[in-house]
Parts: sequence; C-alpha cells; structure tokens
Amino acid sequence: MRETTFYMIVYAWIAVAIFIFPVVIRIIAPYGRHATKNWGGMIDNRVGWILMELPALLVFSVFYLAGSGDHPVVTWLFFGLWVLHYINRTLIFPLRLRTKGKKMPLAIVFMAIGFNFINGFINGYYLGTLATEAQYPISYLSDSRFIGGITLFFFGMFINWQSDNILIHLRKPGETGYVIPSKGFFQLVSCPNHFGEIVEWFGFALMTWCSPALAFAIWTLVNLMPRALHHHKWYQATFPEYPAERKALFPYIL
Ligand code: NDP
Repeated sequence: MRETTFYMIVYAWIAVAIFIFPVVIRIIAPYGRHATKNWGGMIDNRVGWILMELPALLVFSVFYLAGSGDHPVVTWLFFGLWVLHYINRTLIFPLRLRTKGKKMPLAIVFMAIGFNFINGFINGYYLGTLATEAQYPISYLSDSRFIGGITLFFFGMFINWQSDNILIHLRKPGETGYVIPSKGFFQLVSCPNHFGEIVEWFGFALMTWCSPALAFAIWTLVNLMPRALHHHKWYQATFPEYPAERKALFPYIL
C-alpha cells in the first residue's frame, strides 16, 4: 500500500470519529446495564466480548509481525504494551466477568469487530511497515514524549485494571444486580474504568507520536465518554442516595 493512501485512511478514520461524536452522545450503547432486544439478535455476553476484542489482538499482531519495515527495538516495546492490554481485554477480562445469563446484541459485536479491525490494522501496519530506526532509535527511550507517554499509559492501565477489578467483585458468583461502587477512583467518578482506558491510549499516542495511535485514542474517547455519561445518569436515576459530588468521567470536571 502507498504511504499516502495509508495516511488518507488514518485521517479519514479520525474525521469519522469527530463527525459521529454528536450522534453517539445521544445513542445509549445497548450492552451491559443498557442492553435491549430492540437491536436484533443477541449473543452470550462473555462470548460477545471475546469475539469483538479478538481482532484488536490478532489483526494488530499479524500486521506488525508480517510487516516489511525495520522493526526497531522500540517498536517491539510498543507491540508488547498493546498485546499486554489486549491479552487482558480479550482473554482474561471476559472470563472474569460475573455476567451469568446476560446477553448483548450481535449488532454491537459486529460494529466492535469492524472498529477493532481498523484500529488493529492501522496501528499494526504503521509499526510493522512504516516505522523506521531513524524515527525510533534506542535513544528515543529517553525522549520526553516516550517518558511522558509510557507514564500516562501505565497510570491509565492501573486505574482501568483496578476499576474493572472493583466492578467484578461487586457481585458474588451467580449474581447479576447492581450496587453503588465506592472504592478506589469510584470515589471521584462513576466510570474510572473508562477514564483509565482513555488516559492509557492517549499515553500510547504520546509515546508512539504517530497518527494511527492518535486515531485510536480519539476513538476511545468517542466511545467511552458517552457511555460514562449514560452510566452516570443511570446511577443517579437508579440510586437516590448516589453521591452528589461524584463526577461522571473526569475527576472534578465532568
Ligand atoms: P461497565 O462498567 O459497563 O461494566 C463492566 C463490568 O462490571 C460488567 O460486567 C458490568 O456488569 C459490571 N458492573 C458495572 N457496574 C456495576 C455495578 N454498579 N454493580 C455491579 N456490577 C457492575 O464497562 P464496559 O462494559 O463499558 O467496559 C468494560 C471494559 O472495556 C472497560 O475497562 C472499558 O474501558 C473497556 N472498553 C474499551 C473500549 C475502547 O474503545 N477502547 C470500548 C468499550 C469498553 P453488566 O455487564 O451486567 O452491566
């Protein structure tokens, strides 16, 4: 593929994210507590999670590993961080969920597969084929973009994993109801798992300093900001005693 074509795809992908944001902010994504049968066929929740996240792991890895580029050492580190995140999200997180008997719409699964396919492709192809040693020499490890980015990445990952873990343990095995979470970053926001994920991918974008990673970070924000706002409203409507000072997504701000 010509480099200009590749970047056209990436910029178009960023434009789509910005364009659809005003639309998705009004649509409640129908999975988890917002699941509805109005979106057609349904699939087991756990199976849905594995299927929809798998392309992010596989497509990214195939395009990175089979790419015709230099594969500088630094890009192997980026590869490792992506794979670390997606081994958890694809193979560990769904199996830990206490989601017995719950289903999600197949339409969500297909949309997420498409989304993860494109993000896996643009990031894997970029790092495996276009990234060069000149761009990412070993000295890049002391570059402020790398240090700032990897710090944000691990900070975001910590909040995301800790918050996912807190949510999973709100239920005993076999339970499917909801309670008010109160530990960790839940004291500040309703959805620290989403906040952590957003911080993580903006950290990845800063660390790699490339447009495909920026595209993925923007898409993560576009996916998760509406979801956090909808969760927050749902908590307030469901629990009259819900802490009034708690924000939805960004501590002290929103
Ligand atoms: P949710 O917070 O909606 O749910 C996570 C799990 O916790 C579900 O099993 C849910 O059950 C359970 N849960 C949530 N709140 C409660 C509660 N109050 N009481 C009891 N159980 C609860 O997270 P998402 O499903 O939106 O996302 C899961 C992960 O995937 C997150 O870490 C998120 O960041 C990531 N993600 C990333 C995206 C990206 O674009 N990069 C896109 C979407 C998700 P139930 O399913 O029954 O509601």
